[in-house]
Amino acid sequence: MIGASVERLDVLIVGAGLSGIGAGHYVQAECPWASYAIFEARDAIGGTWDLFRYPGVRSDSDMFTLGYSFRPWDSAQAIADGSWILQYIKDTAAAEGIDGHIRFRHRIVAADWSTDDACWHVTAERTDTREIVELTAGFLFSCSGYYRYDHGYTPDFPGTERFRGTIVHPQAWPEDLDYAGKRVVVIGSGATAVTLVPALADKAGHVTMLQRSPSYIVSVPGKDPVADLLRRTLPRGKSDTAVRWFKALLTQGVYQLSRRRPELVKRLLKAGQRRQLPKGYDVDTHFTPTYGPWDQRLCAVPDGDLFKAISAGTASIVTDRITTFTETGVLLESGAELEADIVVTATGLELLFLGGIELSVDGDPVDVSTKLTYKGMMLEDVPNLAIAVGYTNASWTLKCDLTCQYVSRLLNHMHRTGLRQCTPVNHDTALERQPLLGLTSGYVQRSVHKFPKQGSRFPWQVHQSYLRDYRALKRSSIHDDAMVFSNTVPAEEPVAAAAS
Ligand SMILES: Cc1cc2nc3c(=O)[nH]c(=O)nc-3n(C[C@H](O)[C@H](O)[C@H](O)COP(=O)(O)OP(=O)(O)OC[C@H]3O[C@@H](n4cnc5c(N)ncnc54)[C@H](O)[C@@H]3O)c2cc1C
Repeated sequence: MIGASVERLDVLIVGAGLSGIGAGHYVQAECPWASYAIFEARDAIGGTWDLFRYPGVRSDSDMFTLGYSFRPWDSAQAIADGSWILQYIKDTAAAEGIDGHIRFRHRIVAADWSTDDACWHVTAERTDTREIVELTAGFLFSCSGYYRYDHGYTPDFPGTERFRGTIVHPQAWPEDLDYAGKRVVVIGSGATAVTLVPALADKAGHVTMLQRSPSYIVSVPGKDPVADLLRRTLPRGKSDTAVRWFKALLTQGVYQLSRRRPELVKRLLKAGQRRQLPKGYDVDTHFTPTYGPWDQRLCAVPDGDLFKAISAGTASIVTDRITTFTETGVLLESGAELEADIVVTATGLELLFLGGIELSVDGDPVDVSTKLTYKGMMLEDVPNLAIAVGYTNASWTLKCDLTCQYVSRLLNHMHRTGLRQCTPVNHDTALERQPLLGLTSGYVQRSVHKFPKQGSRFPWQVHQSYLRDYRALKRSSIHDDAMVFSNTVPAEEPVAAAAS
């Protein structure tokens, strides 16, 4: 039972990043009856956009869809610097007073759903004092992102202890790192590497992108001409919606074309690369992956900045494997050696589901890897828990916005009816369980076994499609065969809840 002194919230949001601030907006705008707080492990708003400080850090999807639908991105710049995105999140939080609901330096470490009490018993740890804080919450909304904050992923490269230069991971970029005039090797070929290389090339002596295998890289306009035209010709409210839909549908169109006509997309990508690289450049070796477009995330470079740096000779790409670090650089399997003053290991993130929170239901630990996801936002047999997870093939916020609106509908329904519990339950015995994420990228494959599963049919399938989710989350009823509403307010409890 709940002790008298334990704080009770209607909604507890985990994380004050892009999603957590969005969730705060929807809870206070759509469910004004609900008390809520955002628990944030760090001492800053912004999550990803506060943590990552490497040179050139930016979005790689457009801000018209990465921004919130309720606060449209109002710059013409479609691809934005990390510092602008951080400011946008902070401004949103301040404008709506969401920042006043944040409890900084509080990491949620465990949550146990109590059916008797119809609430989560939550344990938080203060990250500054290690003090344990207990509280309860009617609904838990995890906006904790998808990766570890304390360190990124670095493979075990032999010989690093011999290297006399500096080794840096982009997730922990030293503020005072001086790379002017230096020889820099960036290991990796993903979004971070292709962002870093042209940004470092501005000041470094030379930057080499050392990749084991290439990624698909496409140039996108930093300012979108169609979005610009829509913004100039339509009235403000209409243009925001039109631009958002245009960008969402365009991204999805490119994704669908890549899945259905991979050979055509490969040819188009290659032709674009050839146009922007010096004549005779070895596109086949350095820009042609062995997998199909969108088997892994497509990397976008604004206004071809990577191709420009290669053409200018300030950056180059080497496709090879590392044998060992040496005192002065890295020795490759081909026998070549790359001399370096600084090596940047842009080797990725370490994925983490649910911010590492230990979940249990009535004292029984929940092994999330055995659970199905419901509509890509809740977990099978776990009551009153939603998770903000975005798309891997489009802007994160497109999905999180839909999730937040759906959660508001669930909360309002429970509040109106006095039913305090909503639990997705699978009755379909023929349903097949499949991995949650279809991407073949190393960082996904390393961790996907720890993630929940998706089912072979609605509502357990994860679509990675804004259009389908728009129907499933915005247009459809919150009542279906899987969702069980239960746990009425006991008769003796005078219900503030049922009042509205
Ligand atoms: C370098 C980089 C560039 C990216 N670019 C794009 C892009 O262009 N487009 C796109 O769609 N996506 C992009 N992403 C993905 C990006 O992470 C999302 O777009 C989005 O910022 C995620 O927001 P979030 O709030 O869900 O998670 P995060 O930004 O990760 O924030 C999560 C917050 O939760 C806190 N937290 C976690 N666990 C706990 C806990 N147990 N208790 C309390 N607090 C906790 C964290 O401290 C953090 O503040 C990028 C990611 C990276 C790393």
